[in-house]
Amino acid sequence: MDNHQLNIKFIGLEAQQKRIYPQIEKRIKAVLAHGKYIMGPEVIELERLLADYVGVRNVITCSSGTDALLMALMAYDVGPGDAVFTTPFSFVATAEVISLLGATPVFVDIDPKTFNLDPEKLELAVKAIIENNSAIYPIPDISRDSKYRINNRELIPRGIIAVDLFGLPADYGRINAIAGKNNLFVIEDGAQSFGAEYKGKKTGSLADIGTTSFFPAKPFGCYGDGGALFTDNDNLAAKIKSIRVHGAGNTKYNNIQIGINGRLDTLQAAILIEKLKIFPKEMEARSQVAEKYSEGLVDFVDTPFIPDGYKSSWAQYSIKSENRKTIMKAFKDREIPVAVYYPKPLHHQTAFSFLNYKSDDFPVSVDTSKEIFSLPMHPYLSHTEINIIIDVIKNRPL
Ligand SMILES: *Cc1c(COP(=O)(O)O)cnc(C)c1O
Repeated sequence: MDNHQLNIKFIGLEAQQKRIYPQIEKRIKAVLAHGKYIMGPEVIELERLLADYVGVRNVITCSSGTDALLMALMAYDVGPGDAVFTTPFSFVATAEVISLLGATPVFVDIDPKTFNLDPEKLELAVKAIIENNSAIYPIPDISRDSKYRINNRELIPRGIIAVDLFGLPADYGRINAIAGKNNLFVIEDGAQSFGAEYKGKKTGSLADIGTTSFFPAKPFGCYGDGGALFTDNDNLAAKIKSIRVHGAGNTKYNNIQIGINGRLDTLQAAILIEKLKIFPKEMEARSQVAEKYSEGLVDFVDTPFIPDGYKSSWAQYSIKSENRKTIMKAFKDREIPVAVYYPKPLHHQTAFSFLNYKSDDFPVSVDTSKEIFSLPMHPYLSHTEINIIIDVIKNRPL
């Protein structure tokens, strides 16, 4: 059987829409009836529901996961001369927002089993920046680039953006401890990990500020662009709320700081309210799919490693194999969708060439990018579909 008969989807948005179509339609019609398209009552309602779900004091919904990261950095007044530590093995947005503010991304390699920021290397990277010594750990050389016109010696460690890659939380116990010792802020890029857990706490609540994305393909997606910030710090929350509407003070036309237009549409909030109702069940279904995959594949490829006390949201089910090319071809021949996240670590991207990293810096990220790929993952995969996918890997031609 080929997939045009089976129709296995990489992300199961059609099946999800079918399940809740009448409720979504009702919510959209309610917005059309009241007409409050910007910051309508659904936005306020969603923020309250998300605060309960994540277990934080403040939720600020916004225009995208990228803008959530940008506003988090703006809340800390990040700018030129600031070093912000992050992973080179992520979607470009994580590091892009640092550069957009004129600050400097400082990459830290990943753990080979979790694919998340390696705390031991983070400690070395902070030391290397403080001492301006690339013998301790690879650091950018921005003095060679006219874009910055600042010297490496002027770089000050300010903060960390940790990413919960593929839905698995980073090691916040150790990351927050390193941050505390060095007076750094920690932002959790939870774009892929909404619904995941670390030691009994939900993602979004694991750092000073948590962010997420409601891009349709993420575990908790809307029908367009959207995102949110989470924090227990009321002062930061007030500042982010102001930044979200052009730095407004007590009225819209009293501007107290530089901000952006970063609001979530009322229509998207309305859709997310309905999706949140089925989300816990969807999370369980994702876990079951992952369990089945791992049972079937453990002897054939490197299956995902979930440390004790962690729960993934399974944004992606990503496996590693030296035979990635032949396996992916076997899937392609059967028209079953698979994908590579990420084929190129960020220090290899032209956009970041001004940091002057060497190609073989961050070898774990480089090696991972050569062997990793992701299988179809969503709550609506049937046992039959899962077994067919497992069999493609088991029976691939060598
Ligand atoms: C998707 C993603 C983002 C950006 O989210 P958008 O809503 O698309 O702007 C940021 N970081 C990571 C890790 C992501 O996967």
